[in-house]
This record gives sequence, C-alpha cells and structure tokens, in this order.
Amino acid sequence: MSKKPAAANSDVQLSVQVSARGVARLKGGHVWVYRSDVVAAAGVPAGALVHVIDARGKFLGTALYSNSSQIALRMISHDPVADLPALVRERIRAAISYRERIVADSNAYRVVFSEADFLPGLIVDRYDDVISVQILTQAMDAEPVRSAVVETLAEELKPAGIVERVDARIRKLEQLRVRKSGLLYGEKSSTVITMYSAETNGRPVNGSGVRFHYDGFEGQKTGAFLDQRENYAAAAQYAHGEALDVFCYQGGFALHLAKKCSSVTGVDSSRPALEMAEKNAALNGREVEWIEGNAFDLLKDYASAKQQYDTIVLDPPAFAKSKHDLENAMRGYKELNLRALKMLTPGGVLVTCSCSFHVSSQNFVEMVAEAAQDAHRSARILETRGQAKDHPILLGVPETGYLKCMIVSVS
Ligand code: SAH
Repeated sequence: MSKKPAAANSDVQLSVQVSARGVARLKGGHVWVYRSDVVAAAGVPAGALVHVIDARGKFLGTALYSNSSQIALRMISHDPVADLPALVRERIRAAISYRERIVADSNAYRVVFSEADFLPGLIVDRYDDVISVQILTQAMDAEPVRSAVVETLAEELKPAGIVERVDARIRKLEQLRVRKSGLLYGEKSSTVITMYSAETNGRPVNGSGVRFHYDGFEGQKTGAFLDQRENYAAAAQYAHGEALDVFCYQGGFALHLAKKCSSVTGVDSSRPALEMAEKNAALNGREVEWIEGNAFDLLKDYASAKQQYDTIVLDPPAFAKSKHDLENAMRGYKELNLRALKMLTPGGVLVTCSCSFHVSSQNFVEMVAEAAQDAHRSARILETRGQAKDHPILLGVPETGYLKCMIVSVS
C-alpha cells in the first residue's frame, strides 16, 4: 500500500543531519543528498520542509525531504524558508520570465524543469493553451503546494486547460497515492502547437511553422520531445536529398526535414506514434513514408539492400537507464551509427542523438568516431548540440544535462 504523504510545509523546525560526504556534495553545488548520507532524520514525515545541518548542527540550507526516494533531500534554498507555497509561486513566475527571454520560436516549450528551475520534482510543459504538469516528489505533491502550482500557472499563462500527466512508476517509487492523469483546471486537454524554424529567424511568419497535434493524455513524456525542438531546426538547415528519420515518434525531425528534402521516410516501432505522425504530416500538407518496425532490423535490411540516403537522423530511446547498462548501451548506439554512416551518400548528413544521462558527451563523440572508423568514412562535426534552452542545465547538477546531438558531414 502506498502511504499518503503527510503535508508538512510548516515543519521548518525539523532538521536533518547529513554526513561529511553529503556536506561536500552540497558545497560542490549539487542539490541532492542521498539517503546513505543522511545521518539523522528520525520522525521526519514524508514531503517535509527541513533544515539541513552538518555534524556540528550548522545550518546549510532548506530542503524537501522524501522518506522513500534514494534522493532523501533536494535543496530548495540556502536560507530558511517560512512559506513553501509562496516560494513555489515565486519560482514558477521566475521560470516563466526566463522562458520569455529565451524562447521565441515556438508556442510549445518547457516552462519548469525541476531542479534546473529550483523546483525539484516539478515539470511543467506548455503546449500553446494547454499546460501539462508532472509532479514527481512528495513535497510537490502535498497540499497546499499542488494548489499553488495550478493557481500560479492559471494566473500567469491563462491556459484553456491544465492537465496532470501521471508517471505511475515514479509515483510508486515516491510512495505517492495512486492518481490518474486528468484535468486540474479548465476543460481543454488537446490542441495544435507550432514550432517556427530558422528560415524566419524563429519568428512566426504566416505558414512558416511546423505544426503538431497535441493530446495531453497520449504519447510519451508529456506528449512531445520538446527537448529536441532546437535540434529540429538545426537538422533542417543541413538536410538535403533523400532523408531517413529513425526513431521518428510523431514526426518531429521528419516534418522539419520535409521542408528541405526530396523525400522523407520515418521509422518507429510504435504504431500509435506513427498514426499521430501521419496526422501531423497531413496537418502540414506533407507526404512522408512511415514505416513500423524495429530500427535495428530495418537498418540491417536497408544496408544489405544497399539503400542509400543523403540525410539520416538517429534519435533512439535512452539505452542506458543506469550506469550498469552503459556497456550494452554503447554497443547499441554504435551499431546504429555504423549502419547509418555506411548508408550515407558522400556529402551526406548524420544527425545523431543520445538522451541517456549516463552516456557522457565524451563517450558519445568517441562512439561516433569509432563507428565512422569501422564504416571507413570520414566525418566532420558540423554542430555539437544538446537539449533546447528551455530545458536548462544547472551547473553543479550534471543530471540536468542529458541530451547529446551531433550533426556530422560524412565523406
Ligand atoms: N525523434 C523523436 C523522439 C524519439 S523517442 C522526436 O523528436 O519526437 C524514441 C522513439 O523510439 C519512440 O517513439 C519509440 O517508440 C521508438 N523506439 C523504441 N525502440 C525502437 C526500436 N527498437 N525500433 C524502432 N523504434 C523504436
């Protein structure tokens, strides 16, 4: 049975003592303390707001406590915090104004990215007039924080609907009570979003954008891979000829490439994703060939059939979900990249991605270099990229940076 988290936002007097290793980690700029570095937390309820102290009782900051996650403490301030809902409201407003400065080319973007927006456990994505919220920690799930989140988003962004997208696995891990995805505010849960591309300097010019259907209760993540948004435009800049989008999902890359390429084929193993991709193609008046299948098998078949492409995108799911998977994951990435490199025409473009946090940028570049070597191809880096700027990377918290995207020219 999952326990109901005791809302404990007024329990600021509670203290949790952390070990020297925990202190060192915090001094290094990280905001997490693992359970193994918690020395004393007796009687601290789930989701409590706590003072973090060292062995001598020195105050280090205020944190959100979880009694079930391996990440026992997530720092929320260097100072004492008297009113958590008020702080959450202020931080959401700051996250919104940060996006106003850095996002101009889309009406779909991430508004709050958890630790990177100093709101651990809260994800908010905006899909035009529909907002999607994910709550991942006990403290964020407790009232009155939940209400503060919804009210602030409604006031500031004036959406037609706010949906909660439940990640059942994480709710279970956090021992949060079972909830279903549903509307938290308003009535609207689906809409059409538009991403504008480089041709118009990211500005909305009539008919220039790429449009996507969005349904708040369907698909992966909160619906779309918003973290790839800037990479779609970058890929389109170099794309030409016949293009292949491998792991295409609902057509994010494919539909951007369709503006530049003579033909585009999208491959994915998920039929619902491809059905949405086809609807998206129709919405944009584009023709794309969608193929349902296992990317590894299909690439093998295409390679033996000596099929060639001028542009290939590889955007596989995270193969390394933990450090232990790294070796197998690297083998998977290398196989895909090797096959793609072999199939590219001279002057061809490879857009290759990894969204596994455990694969470092260095691991990734080395893997592509080895694949090029094995394929007897020379590859020059056009761009080394990461996640879109609305998914900020907080220095000191490496886990906030996970997406790697490299665009190479192959000869
Ligand atoms: N490029 C997409 C996101 C891709 S996410 C975008 O920008 O929107 C990874 C995708 O890989 C998912 O759609 C998933 O259905 C698909 N997938 C996972 N394993 C696969 C496999 N073995 N073969 C083909 N597709 C696979």
